[in-house]
Amino acid sequence: MTLHLPTLLLLDICVLALLGALMLHAWRRSENEATLGWMAGMLLLASLGTLVVSLRGIGMDSLSIVLGQALLRLAAGFGWTAMRVFAGRRPCWPAIVGGALLWALLCLWPHFMSSLPWRVTIVTLLTVLYSVMAAWELWRARRQLQAAILPAVALSLMHALFCASLLLVDSGQAIERVWSGLDDSFVTWRLLEAFLFAIGIAFVTLAMVRERAEVRLRAVANCDPLTGIGNRRAFMASAEALLADCRRTERPAALLLCDLDHFKLVNDRHGHAMGDAALIGFGRVLSQSIRQSDVCGRIGGEEFACLLPDANAAQAELVAERIRLECSELMPDPALCFSVSIGVAEVAQAGYELPRLLALADQALYRAKANGRNRVEHYAAQPLPA
Ligand code: GH3
Ligand code: MG
Ligand code: MG
Repeated sequence: MTLHLPTLLLLDICVLALLGALMLHAWRRSENEATLGWMAGMLLLASLGTLVVSLRGIGMDSLSIVLGQALLRLAAGFGWTAMRVFAGRRPCWPAIVGGALLWALLCLWPHFMSSLPWRVTIVTLLTVLYSVMAAWELWRARRQLQAAILPAVALSLMHALFCASLLLVDSGQAIERVWSGLDDSFVTWRLLEAFLFAIGIAFVTLAMVRERAEVRLRAVANCDPLTGIGNRRAFMASAEALLADCRRTERPAALLLCDLDHFKLVNDRHGHAMGDAALIGFGRVLSQSIRQSDVCGRIGGEEFACLLPDANAAQAELVAERIRLECSELMPDPALCFSVSIGVAEVAQAGYELPRLLALADQALYRAKANGRNRVEHYAAQPLPA
C-alpha cells in the first residue's frame, strides 16, 4: 500500500486543527480543566508546525526547517504539560520551551543546519524525551489520579519507542529521498504514526478528564457537605451491599442508629453555627470509632447510622457506648455539652433487610429517648414504654 504524502500532510494539518479547536471548546466548557487547554495547544501547534514544515520545497526551506520543527517541539512540550497538569503539577515553562529553544539555537550553527542526520537525531531525541516525560508524569502520580492512565502511558511510550527505533533504521536519508523525488514511503509511514498518536492521545486525554470528573462528581453526590461523611444515599447503598455480603457468608451484623439529644435546644441556646460544629465533631467521632470494614453516614439532620458487619449485639453495644462517651466530651466548654441516644439492632432479630434493621434500631432509639436520653438501648421484642 502506498500513501500519497501531500494528501497525508493536508489531512494531518486539517484534522489536527479541527481536533485542536474541539479540544479548545471542551476546555472552555470544562471551566478549570487545564489539561484540555494544554492538549488543545498541543494539537493546534502541531497543526501549524506541520503546515510550516510542509512549505519546504516552495522556496522557504530554512524557515520551514527552523520554524516548523520549533513549533513541533513546542507542541511536544505542551503535550507533556497536559499530562503534568493532569497529575496535579504546575507547568514548567523553561522545560516547555526548552526543546524548541535548543532546536532554534542549534539551527544558528551552520554545521548543524547543513547536517540532515544531526537534525533528524535531535528532533527525534527531543520527541522521545517529551513522550517519556509525559508517561512518567502520569505513572508517578498513578495512585491519586482517579482515572485509567494506562492507555495514555502506553501510547506515549509506544510513540517514544517508535521514534527511537526509526532513528536506528534511518537518520535522514529517507527525507533526502523525498526531496529528490525518489521514494516517500518511509516518511509517509512516520507521518502517519505521528498523526495517529496525536489523535489517540487527544481522545485518551478527554476520556481521562471525563472519568476523573465523574469520579469526583460521584464522591460529591455521596458525601454530606457539612460533616464530610457519607450521606443517606451513600450509607443506604454501602449498607445494603455489606448486608448482602454478610447474608451470603452467613456472618452477623448490627446497626447503630444515633440521634443527638435536644439538638433543637443546642441550636436555640448556642446558635446554628455551634450546632453545625457539634454535627461536624460528631461525624468525626463516628468515623473514628468504627473499623474500616464498617460504614457510617448522616442519614438525617442530626441522625446518623452505622452498619457493623461481623458484630453481634453485645459488640455493637460496646461501640455505641464508646461513641456516646466520646460525644459527651466533644465540646471543650462543659456549658456546651450535648449528648446522643443510640438504638442498636442486629440481624439475628431483624434479618438481613436494611429497612427492617433500621426500623428495629429506631424502636430501640425511641426507648433510649423515653428512658431519659444519653444512653444506648438494644432492640428487644419487649413492649415500648408508654
Ligand atoms: P430529641 O432529643 O427528641 O431528638 O430532640 P431534638 O431537639 O434533637 O429533635 P428535633 O427533631 O426536635 O430537632 C432536631 C434539630 O436538629 C432541629 C434542627 O434545627 C436541627 N438540625 C437539623 N439539621 C441541622 C444542621 O444541619 N445544622 C444545625 N445546626 N442544626 C440542624
Ligand atoms: Mg431526630
Ligand atoms: Mg434529636
